[in-house]
Amino acid sequence: MALIIKKFGGTSLATPSLIMHLAKRVAAEVKSGNKVVVVVSAMGKTTNELISMAKQITNQPEEREMDMLLTAGERISMSLFSMSLNFLNVKAYSFTGSQVGIITTEEHTNAKILSVKGERLLSALNEGITPIIAGFQGVSGSKEVTTLGRGGSDTTAVALAAFLKADLCEIYSDVDGVFTIDPRINSGARLINQISYEEMLIMAHMGSKVLHPRSVEIAERYNIRLAVKPSFNEGDGTMITNAENIESVSVRGISTRQNLALVNLKTPDSNIVSLMKKLNSSNLNIELFITKTSEIISVVVEQDKVNDLLSCTEDACTSVSINNDIAIVSFIGTGVSTDKDVLGKILSITEKYSADVFGFFTDKLVLSIVTKQPYVEKISNEAAKAFQLIG
Ligand code: ASP
Ligand code: MG
Repeated sequence: MALIIKKFGGTSLATPSLIMHLAKRVAAEVKSGNKVVVVVSAMGKTTNELISMAKQITNQPEEREMDMLLTAGERISMSLFSMSLNFLNVKAYSFTGSQVGIITTEEHTNAKILSVKGERLLSALNEGITPIIAGFQGVSGSKEVTTLGRGGSDTTAVALAAFLKADLCEIYSDVDGVFTIDPRINSGARLINQISYEEMLIMAHMGSKVLHPRSVEIAERYNIRLAVKPSFNEGDGTMITNAENIESVSVRGISTRQNLALVNLKTPDSNIVSLMKKLNSSNLNIELFITKTSEIISVVVEQDKVNDLLSCTEDACTSVSINNDIAIVSFIGTGVSTDKDVLGKILSITEKYSADVFGFFTDKLVLSIVTKQPYVEKISNEAAKAFQLIG
């Protein structure tokens, strides 16, 4: 008997009949003798719809109230999933994050899981009941309902897998797994059968939307067997595992991030540290820092965060300029830092298309270039060919 966590994404749960379809798959697993814990996202586009309702009231809704609102989405899918399983004669019980004791930090809309109490989860499992857990939510030390950031239900699933020492954590979605390049950019994208935790973490941070980055961090820390699988086909998907278990390749995949802005902040010499302090204490996700001179720091942030950035750095800057429609194209794999050929090929591609390049970032497993949005497809497609990631 194995204990398996199965997490289902919103598109897979978009209608009651899709929920019933997945419940049948879970029922078959339970009837075969395994124990299953289900984690659900909200149905279809529910979370986006809830956000747009809030925006119709105010442009600056309180984050606490946003959490109250958004956690409602997963309540709908969890109860319908539970009803479906009960209808199929598999005893199920749905629980909110707070009910199963997913304890988080206090940061509304972007909380981190601190611990899992899990009493009700354990007693349900002991009684042979299949628990259906609302993903993406928890409760803080001060008993406030919190959410884990967009896409956070993957993290709920992996945190529960760690708590329960599950044999496997499966993340089901409408895609077949993790691809070498976004299939919307290149239809020849290949499915990656196995990828290391470290590579996957970078892919997730650098734009691959298949997994919430925190979920990969937790999976690595607790050595969770993690799989990304298709909800609607039978494929094996992608297995995320230890680097020692798999063949290393020069470039495993390409990730892209778009809708970014490059903001140049000019600060009097002595103020550079105080500027960094301000950035550090803000809630902003800075994608990249580029220090040009001792006076100028360029930072890359999401385009819709530019105003927040400007207001938090106001006192420490003398002038700024903003470049919109920025993108980051990242190449991930063990060869990017060891094989000079990789950079050589990328440079000749950017040269071929006369692409604007604002900066490079390299680390052990990643090489990123900051460019303009219109070059993303050209660069990634040509690189996908050069690194044999398609076909
Ligand atoms: N429903 C949430 C979202 O859309 C969480 C998730 O799907 O993982 O971001
Ligand atoms: Mg997701």
